[in-house]
Amino acid sequence: MFNCVLCDKVYVHKRDLNRHDKTHNGSVISCGICFKTFVQRNNLNIHVQKCHKIAKDTPEFHSAIRIGGAMGI
Ligand SMILES: [Zn+2]
Ligand SMILES: [Zn+2]
Repeated sequence: MFNCVLCDKVYVHKRDLNRHDKTHNGSVISCGICFKTFVQRNNLNIHVQKCHKIAKDTPEFHSAIRIGGAMGI
């Protein structure tokens, strides 16, 4: 299984992930609290939990996860 590093999508085939990746073209993942940017979504998850003491799956947590670019989240 291939995980998208920018969102929670999972693909069985690498080529499907590659195609999906293009939809994130130019996207940046960043912390909504301190605006630090990350390459991998997972690193941001850990950062928010450790540095800002925010528990996973809370509204605060979701608002701290910022994925810029075409997705507009
Ligand atoms: Zn994705
Ligand atoms: Zn932060």
